Amino acid sequence: MSDSIKKVCVIGAGTMGAGIAAQVANAGVPVVLLDIVPKDGTNRNAIAEGAVAKMLKIEPAPFMSKSAAKLVETGNIEDHLDKVAECDWVIEAVIERLDIKQGLYAKLEAVKRDGTAVSSNTSTIPLANLVEGRSEAFKRDFLITHFFNPPRYMRLLEIVTGPDTDAGVAAKVEQFADVAMGKTVVHAKDTPGFIANRIGTYWIQLGINAAFDMGLSVELADAIAGKAMGVPKTGIFGLVDLVGIDLMPHLQASLTSTLPQDDPYHAIARTMPLIEKMIADGYTGRKGKGGFYRLNKQAGRRKEAIDLATGEYHAAIKPQGPRGPAAKGDLRALAESKGDIGSYAWAVMGGTLAYAAALVPSAAADVVAIDDAMKLGYNWSAGPFEMIDKLGAKYLAERLEAEGQPVPEMLKVAGERTFYRIENGKRQFLGLDGEYHDVVRAEGVLRLADIKLASKPLLKNASAALWDVGDGVVCLEFTGKMNALDGDVMKLIVQAIPMVAAQYKALVVYTDADSFSAGANLGLALFGLNIAAWGEIEKLVAGGQMAYKGLKYAPFPVVSAPAGLAVGGGCEILLHSDAIQAHAELYTGLVECGVGLIPGWGGNGEMLDRARKANRMPRGPMPAVAKVFETVSTATVSKSAAQAKEMLFLRPEDGITMNRDRLLHDAKQKALSLVEGYTPPEPPEFKLPGPSGRTAMGMAAEGFHKRGMATDYDMVVSDALAAVLSGGDADVVDTVTEQELLKLERETFMRLVHEPRSIARVEHMLETGKPLRN
Ligand code: NAD
Repeated sequence: MSDSIKKVCVIGAGTMGAGIAAQVANAGVPVVLLDIVPKDGTNRNAIAEGAVAKMLKIEPAPFMSKSAAKLVETGNIEDHLDKVAECDWVIEAVIERLDIKQGLYAKLEAVKRDGTAVSSNTSTIPLANLVEGRSEAFKRDFLITHFFNPPRYMRLLEIVTGPDTDAGVAAKVEQFADVAMGKTVVHAKDTPGFIANRIGTYWIQLGINAAFDMGLSVELADAIAGKAMGVPKTGIFGLVDLVGIDLMPHLQASLTSTLPQDDPYHAIARTMPLIEKMIADGYTGRKGKGGFYRLNKQAGRRKEAIDLATGEYHAAIKPQGPRGPAAKGDLRALAESKGDIGSYAWAVMGGTLAYAAALVPSAAADVVAIDDAMKLGYNWSAGPFEMIDKLGAKYLAERLEAEGQPVPEMLKVAGERTFYRIENGKRQFLGLDGEYHDVVRAEGVLRLADIKLASKPLLKNASAALWDVGDGVVCLEFTGKMNALDGDVMKLIVQAIPMVAAQYKALVVYTDADSFSAGANLGLALFGLNIAAWGEIEKLVAGGQMAYKGLKYAPFPVVSAPAGLAVGGGCEILLHSDAIQAHAELYTGLVECGVGLIPGWGGNGEMLDRARKANRMPRGPMPAVAKVFETVSTATVSKSAAQAKEMLFLRPEDGITMNRDRLLHDAKQKALSLVEGYTPPEPPEFKLPGPSGRTAMGMAAEGFHKRGMATDYDMVVSDALAAVLSGGDADVVDTVTEQELLKLERETFMRLVHEPRSIARVEHMLETGKPLRN
């Protein structure tokens, strides 16, 4: 038995199966996707084929690149089940019916190899029931892998093993799901709803009940049990609209029929006539005619909310929600707020936290598993036990006791203590045994947060910091809002270079934050523009160029490790690195034209250099220049790291890490691999097309302009870009040095900065977060 997974089969090409197959393909692994033969029609593979075709159209896209889609082979379970023999893992994601799942396993047993893992994506059916009637050998290979929707974007994977599951088989699946598919695995017990949906359903039901009982508006309820509570700002009603109101009765029926009689869920499970009517009338949420909220098309897409008492819609109001500390994460202040705010907050939060606390050890082995499940499966910013730490375990226990409610064992164990603490620079959690235990990270998982607990920064200012991440590698971290870049970042880079050169081996640019960097600090730039501090702005541009080139020519390897957004100046820092190790979810691009500017920190030359090297059959300089012009003038941002490679932001040899938690480790390894014999790159010299190239680019842009896809001012900005990319007045025979190109870039940038329409774009972006098409 080979212990790695080289080919996967997914059975059931519905919402989940198709999405899971896409994520396997995103990992670069071939996958067979099967469904039933449709009752009508001649194409026996129509369902699986249709699922792939649909996935190529929807947003957010399940596939990270078009080439990933080619790794999916479609078929049906009548003609192609024998393909299972070629696979190392079979994932069953057919409809939630025990008889159908059991029937399929019986057929699988006849065709699968011993040691090929079989897992079910069931949300509700116990493992024990699924494997009834199967052989011992089948049971050894069987487990539950519960993915969340959409499988590409939701990081949580709950894994449940049975008493007969072979540890090696489970480990093989877990390793693949973690490293190749990028999921964070949480081990759950074989109990109904596992962890996340069990707590999540309870929380939603409490929120709905309390809003109805207290006569609260949905707007106020969502303002309280939303951002203030550290859960997504949709709040509970907004969330139900998003996932589909019609799913609620199914979850409820399944949990009421499977949870033990003494489970507190039975006491709160209720059906509301208004909600039943909404579902019957097609008001199932965002996918239906509307839900608790809707956009009224007749009223100019006005946002409306439903009145829970009458069922009538009204213009959504911005309620007087929590204020002061209660709005800023102080959960005690929130629970003790006066009036409806405090009552609702306590009803939802107190009840949910008490319920979650009672699930150790029956549904999860420890508090960490529960916290991880809620953070990754429901996007809570803190897990239930982290929330209890903010609220106070003793406070929660006393308040429950005062209300005559049972106090969960885990809360009694905590007493006056917290569930988490830092001891000798290590994060520890409280076990049911009353002792603290280290939070253990899997091998290959490295987080800057852990390093920060155990050490002090080597350098630090208001916008950046430098950390020793071990083995001679130093990490440059951005720390401003959205990790915006400013003079302080550049200053720290300049200070860091001699320090790393003297005492360390390599530098990694990385942050734990969701966004690597939103680019230059536009707020600061606008301030400069408004007071006409042109000298300051030019200094910022020149300083950035110098700092980035400093990184490029430093005598040690520099590896950037971006995740999430890396745009504008955030993208340019990638372009100046020796190598990039990117998280698969990378949204990068040079977006300056969107705000009426052009890249100003060396991005133009770096892109030209990349395009020139990627252009295998050079027919003069123009093809490479045109390619860069197209990407930059349209401010295109990649929708994945794979796409960023196609767009040349990443080089072919740059690495992609699927699991976010492994990114820093992988980047560090990449940096170390470059240390031996490292020499900085030679400064490039460019052959550029000159004025004729600028004209050619202008003609291409004019095409967009004529079709109404580019505004008059877009033409001005793209011409400025074309002037730089073509090398200004250079003739084709001239050689343009890197320094000359930087000067041209700087001068052109400064010219645009004076334009009122560029300033208007910057202002608009800051105010609305969206580009102004002036
Ligand atoms: P779905 O209805 O979208 O898709 C189910 C697919 O199974 C359909 O394409 C159907 O044709 C196919 N199918 C039915 N019988 C089959 C058979 N005998 N062999 C092969 N294919 C068959 O359902 P879904 O939402 O993708 O759910 C699939 C599984 O995942 C269920 O067990 C569900 O509980 C679970 N799940 C769903 C979600 C979710 O958010 N939708 C989340 C986690 C887990």
